[in-house]
Formats: sequence, structure tokens, C-alpha cells
Amino acid sequence: MTRISPDGATPAMAQWFALKAENPEALLFFRMGDFYELFFDDAIAAAAALDIALTARGNHGGEPIAMCGVPVGAAPAYLSRLIRRGFRVAVAEQTEVPHKGRPASKGPLARAIVRVVTPGTLTEDELLEPGRSNLLLALVRPEEAARGKRRKESAPQEADQLGAAWIDVSTGLFETANLPVAALPALLGRLDPAEILATAGVDLGDYDARRAPEATLPAAGSARQRLAAAFDVASIEAFGTFSDEESMAAAMAVDYVRRSQAGRLPRLTHPIPQSQSGVLGIDPATRASLDILRARDGGGEHTLFAAMNRTVSAAGARMLAEWLASPLTQVEAIAARQSGWWWLKEHTARSTALRDALKRAPDIARALGRLSLGRGLPRDMAGVRDGLGAAREAARILLGQGDAAQAAGLPVILADAFAWLGAAQSLEAELRVALAEELPARLDDGGVIATGYDSALDEHRTLRDNSRRLIAALQAEYATRFGVSNLKIRHHAQLGYVMEVPVGVSARLKDNADLILRQGTASTARFATEELASLNVRITEAAEKAAQREKAVFAELTAKVLAERDLPRLAQALAVLDVLQSCAALAAGGTWCRPEVSEDTAFDLQGCRHPVVEAALPPGTRFTPNGCVLAPERRVMLLTGPNMAGKSTFLRQTALAVILAQGGFPVAADSARIGVVDQLFSRVGASDDLARGRSTFMVEMTETAAILNQAGPRSLVVVDEIGRGTATLDGLAIAWSVLEALHSTVRCRAIFATHFHELSRLVDTLPRLCLHTMAVREWRGQIVFLHEVLAGSAKKSWGVHVARLAGVPVNVVERAGRLLRELERAENTIPEPLPLFDTQKTLPPPCENTLSKRLMEIDPDSLTPRAALDMLYDLRRQA
Ligand code: ADP
Repeated sequence: MTRISPDGATPAMAQWFALKAENPEALLFFRMGDFYELFFDDAIAAAAALDIALTARGNHGGEPIAMCGVPVGAAPAYLSRLIRRGFRVAVAEQTEVPHKGRPASKGPLARAIVRVVTPGTLTEDELLEPGRSNLLLALVRPEEAARGKRRKESAPQEADQLGAAWIDVSTGLFETANLPVAALPALLGRLDPAEILATAGVDLGDYDARRAPEATLPAAGSARQRLAAAFDVASIEAFGTFSDEESMAAAMAVDYVRRSQAGRLPRLTHPIPQSQSGVLGIDPATRASLDILRARDGGGEHTLFAAMNRTVSAAGARMLAEWLASPLTQVEAIAARQSGWWWLKEHTARSTALRDALKRAPDIARALGRLSLGRGLPRDMAGVRDGLGAAREAARILLGQGDAAQAAGLPVILADAFAWLGAAQSLEAELRVALAEELPARLDDGGVIATGYDSALDEHRTLRDNSRRLIAALQAEYATRFGVSNLKIRHHAQLGYVMEVPVGVSARLKDNADLILRQGTASTARFATEELASLNVRITEAAEKAAQREKAVFAELTAKVLAERDLPRLAQALAVLDVLQSCAALAAGGTWCRPEVSEDTAFDLQGCRHPVVEAALPPGTRFTPNGCVLAPERRVMLLTGPNMAGKSTFLRQTALAVILAQGGFPVAADSARIGVVDQLFSRVGASDDLARGRSTFMVEMTETAAILNQAGPRSLVVVDEIGRGTATLDGLAIAWSVLEALHSTVRCRAIFATHFHELSRLVDTLPRLCLHTMAVREWRGQIVFLHEVLAGSAKKSWGVHVARLAGVPVNVVERAGRLLRELERAENTIPEPLPLFDTQKTLPPPCENTLSKRLMEIDPDSLTPRAALDMLYDLRRQA
């Protein structure tokens, strides 16, 4: 953006320049009356982004000043569009009330930036997605500290720690973590933050577009002090143990939020340090291939979340999304969630009643967020009231006919939630009395506080309304007194209450000593009287006082709401109940089971389905459920079968079953037994990364390397077509060695889908390998996919048949068919099997295969693309 010199600016423009300089990165919304105006380059950018008219106003430096504006009432919609397009917006309000008699010589009204709207600090419903968190993430990797540690400690990877802190301003959530740099991509994928504050040394990868323009690193000591001061404690150790980096990240996030709200800090929970160990490891590639919360097409429709979400409140949907994004690894914690929804499923009537009660529960957490920033709307206050009502109702439902003592019989997770539901009941009673039945959208509209709640307010209102009634009575009286039957008393924006008569009679009234002519138009004349003038003053004063008093009462109520420290926990309890009832509803359908999650390495899914593919099948088609057993003695499955036969679906559904089971959710299967998985790796479907200059094969190898380097015996790996991106023999060799490594070195549970049917022969040398194939049937020369996983291996590829299905022209398909038959004939005349599989004679035993060893030694992260290519040629020579 070109910088324009403020020299020679008019006083109003000088004020604009001063405010613009406070936040040069943001568009400045400059309040002028009922509009937010934008000037200069801001106007040009906003007019283009919002598709609104660009005009000009006055001159600066001899050039017209570009200008555009948006009406204040419609601002949220425009803000939302700008934020979505990556802008930030500083909002400057008039902080001085214009009043009559203010001399023009005083210059423009005082203005100040009241807020900087950025993607990670939003609070308005219009700008937020109801069912998703909106996180600001701060990351700190102080190079100095890291270098200092590296010198002291022997293991350099331990020194490469990051401090992370994330805040959802809209709900007050505040968490922190310490993590190895290598775990950052997984954290980013899990949190999917809207905005990221990161010091220069932190590589955000694909998330770099969400980096905030400035990130100032606070000093470690002062970070702790400032955090402690913000939360009013002597030391933040009161909330747990925080590393220096973690506390710096937390302070950085808090400072940023404070600045974005013009110095005001919304109410946040105190920072809660999160351990990363209790969470299932899901790397970004895995997350991308599984469509958990967002689909590969970017939408939310064809996702696991959409397929299993039965929540009825926004807060419940947010919590469900959080649980799905970070499944657990501790069996007890998983079991606690399961017993919660199982109990609800067994108590159907209560579960249904609970669902109805929760439907009426507004989003208390976000209402509290706005109230704590002084941005609370009448409906937010009503939201707290109705949320409290829903909580009371939910508590009553949980107890059933019993008394409070019976809550002890509830599963722990329900009993814990129950314990918070009774909070702040007196506040609910007060809000019921305080708020009017019909609420206006804004506090300024008046009529928020009910009659009878505050006597001073009632008095001002009575005065105002009585005077209005007096005025209405005056109309009849004046009509008689002045002999004008169609005389009207009207309120006029500038003149206040005036008497209006047709111009025809105005000549007759003009000389009446009681009347003062105020205005004449072509058809009417407007007169004022002493009485009207004094009533006018009374009404204006009373109305102003009523409005002021109403605001004061609202502020008192806000303070009372915020003083209820248990409200956020109550909101959270309602969200937990919603997630649990959602699970109960899902399981009640009879097609989702309660999985058995154990400490061992069992893996036994029966009748398992892919809920998203199932939901998307055309009407009349049935999804074919499949079992998947990866018992310790047969923990690696080699899956063959043609394209379109359902391999990827099977791989994905198996991975999704783990996510569901360890999230504590029901699983789309007849039965499921899963020994806790610590890391899940899924590589299904081609992922091109040409934008970053990496070929499909390079991406595939990088991802394969990531799996082989990170997976361990408790991991589950599902991979599709390793080695597809290169020449057949290369590919086969790589697939072979990767399969061996998974089987014998990593020793994890794995499903390895491949086109290389030759690999089936490895079953003779790899004892834990089992062979499965997708069932297909040939019928009148056509291929029929049965989508069924059977023991055994595919006999042929069916590629030519699939090509026909895909609409490849008949002559090409027929030619391919003839060529294939010839090739097969030729192959059958070769007396020996392919030398690659003549293991006894020509090659060393599989596990000591030098190719596999060399592959294992590669550190793809440290290779340049050129070195990787050389390495490949080298490997190929060996094959
Ligand atoms: P592959 O990976 O073998 O090429 P996909 O898993 O992509 O095949 O499946 C292709 C299509 O077949 C899917 O889009 C879906 O419509 C259908 N399909 C896959 N598995 C099943 C199943 N178990 N039951 C019914 N239809 C299925």
C-alpha cells in the first residue's frame, strides 16, 4: 500500500491519519454519523472486495480522496466478507457525543479505535461459524533459548521445543502446550486456527497464509508476571507447570487479544496446560485424507462430522468437533465417555427429553464472551437466562423421578456435568424478572428491561409516556381551539413535536399569538406552541434519562452475570450433555456399536462401514459392510483388487473406526474391538503437491518416509498404492521393501493396498502377513464390483474393464484387451518367475534386503529434491 503523507490534511483527515498510523496493516473503518467511511487505498481495496461504489471526497495533496462507506447497521455483514478475504479491520468510533451548541471551531468529534477485527479475535455471531471454535494460536520458539538449551542437553531434538497457546475469544477457552517442533503440523491440523502469531523462526507450512502480520515476543520473566496479573494470581504456577516458551506464547496471545479489543481483555478461562501424550497422533496428511471435519473439497457436507453429528446446540457441535479432532489414548477416559452415552441410550425417554431441553439452550459461552467485552446484546442476556433455564431442566431430566442423591448413580461424566447444572439459579430468577418479554435487537432501541424491575427506570418511562399521551390529547384540543378539523400533531426529527395544518389555513393562524410558525412546505405549515415546546423538553429529557438508566441497569446485570464464575463450566456441561445425547441417538439407531477399547493390540471390526460413503450412495444401493481383523499373529493385511472395487473406502473406514472408537464415540460397525492406537497414519488417494514443486512420487516417498520414521508398534498404518508413481519395477521394489519394513521393523498393525499382485508371494516369508482381496465377478465380459473383502489375493487387475467403465473409446479398450492377452501369453512362456521374487536364489532374505535397509536410512526431510532424485536412480540400479 502506498503511504500518503498526512501533511496539509484537513483536521478530520489529520485525525484519520493519526488513527491509521496506530494500525497500518488494517483497513480503517472511520465512523461518520451512520456510516463507517474508508479513505485512500483502504477505500480502493474495500470497494473492490465488497463490490460497493467508490467515490471521492475533498482533496488531499492536490488529488481527490478516494472514499467508500458502509452503513453502521449493515457493518457485520461487510466485516465478515472482508475478514474472509484476509483483511483486518480497525474500527474507529466517535467517542464524543455531538450536542447542540458545540462550536465548529472545536474541530472534528473525538474518535478512537475501539477494536481491531482480525480472523482470530471475532466475537459476533455474524462473523463466526456456530459449530466451530475460532482459535487464535500463538507459537514461540525463542531461538536464543533453544540454542542455550542445545548446548546443555545432549539430545538436540529435545531442545527443539515449541511453546503454544491458543485462545477462543468468543468462548473464553485458553489452553497451552509444549511440543516438539516436529509435532507442529499435527497440532495445526488438529486446531485448525483462524489466525496464528508466530515468531519468525517458526515454519507454518500450509498454514502460513494465516500468520498475523506482527508477532512480538515478550521476555520470559515478564510473560509470567503479566499472565499472573491478567488472571489475578501471584504466580501462574497456580494453574499448572508452564515452560518458558509456553508462558511466552500465552502472554503473546493475551497481549494480542487485549490490543485487538482496544485494551480490554475478554473473560478467559485461566490457561490450562495440555499434555500431548493423551491424544491420538494424527499427522496432517492423515487428517487430509480422512475428511474428519472438512472434506477434501473444502466443504463440510461429506465429512465424518456431518455423518455422525446429532447434536442440537452450537456449543455441542463445537465440542463434538473438538473430540473428533483429538481422539484419546487413555482407555479410562475413553470408557468414561462411552458409559455416559450408553447410559443415555439405555434411558431413552430421558435422552429424548434432554435433547429437547438442549435444543432450547442458547450459546451461553459466546454470549458470555460478548458480555465480557461490553458488546453484549439484549439477546445475549436472554441467552444466559434461557441457558440457565435449559440447565435446570437438564438437571431435572437427569434425575428422573429421583432426588439429588440419585445423581450419585449416574456414570461419572454425567454426574460431573450434573454438578455444574445447578449453578447461578438465582441469577436465572433475576433475569426472568429483569428482561422484557419481547426484546429489541439492540440496547439502544430501548425496552430491554421489563417494567417493574427498576423503579427509577419506570419513573422516567412513565414521565415520557404520560407526556406522549398529553400530546396525543392536545391534538383534539387544538383542532377545536384553532378550528382546523384535520390538524395533526406530529414528531419531526429536527423540530420535535409540531402542529401540522394544511397551507390553506396557515394564513389565518399566522398571527395567532400562541403559535410560532416553524416551517412551511408546499402543502403544510408547521407551528410550535409553548405547551408543545415544554412537553417536547420533558419527553426528550425523560426519554434520555430512561435510555441512560436502562443502559445502567443492563450494565449492572452484565456485572452480575460475569460475577457468576461457574457459568462457563455450566455452559461446558451442557455441551458435554449434547455430545453424549448425540452419541446415544446415533447408537439408538442400531447400526452403530459401542466399541471395546483395550490396552492390548487387538483389532477386530465386524460389519464395519464407511459412514460418509454410505450416506452418499445413490438410493437403492446398499453399502456392503466388511470386517477387518488385524490380530497380533496376522497384523499386516495385504489388500489387492482392481480400481473402483472399494479398497480406499475399506482403508478409510478402518482408520475412521479408530478415530471414532478413541474419541469415545459409537462406531459404524456391528462390533469393534480395538487395542489403543497411539498414532494413526493414513495415505489414501493421490495427493499432488505440484504447487510446491514436488511430484506425486516425491510426495508419496516423503509421506512414506514420515510413516517409517515415526510409526511404532502401537500405530495403525493404512496405505494405498505405495510405489504407484514410478516405473513398475522401481515401484514394486519400493512397495516390497516398505511392506517388509512395516511388518518386521515397525511391527505395527497395517493395511497395505496395492496393485502389485506379485507382493502376495511375500506371505511365504512374512509370518504376520495376511492376504485379502476385493471380490469382483465377471459377468458377460463385464466386471461387477461386490465391495466385499475376502481372504486371498486378486488374480488379475481388470484395468481394461475399468477403462471401459470409465468411457474410454471402445476401439482403444479393445486394442488394450488384445495387447494384454498377448503380453500374458508372452509372460506365460517365460519359464522362470520374475527374478525379483526368486528370493531363494538371487536375492538376500527379505528383512536384510539392502534396498530396504538403504530406504530406511534415508532422511527425506533433509534431502534436496535433486539429492532425492539421485538417490532414486541409485536405488533403481540396485533393484
Ligand atoms: P478403489 O479405492 O478400489 O478404487 P473406492 O473405495 O474409491 O475404490 O470405491 C469406489 C466406489 O465404490 C465408491 O465411491 C462407492 O460408491 C463404492 N463402494 C466402495 N465400497 C463400497 C461398499 N463397501 N459398499 C458399497 N459401495 C461401495
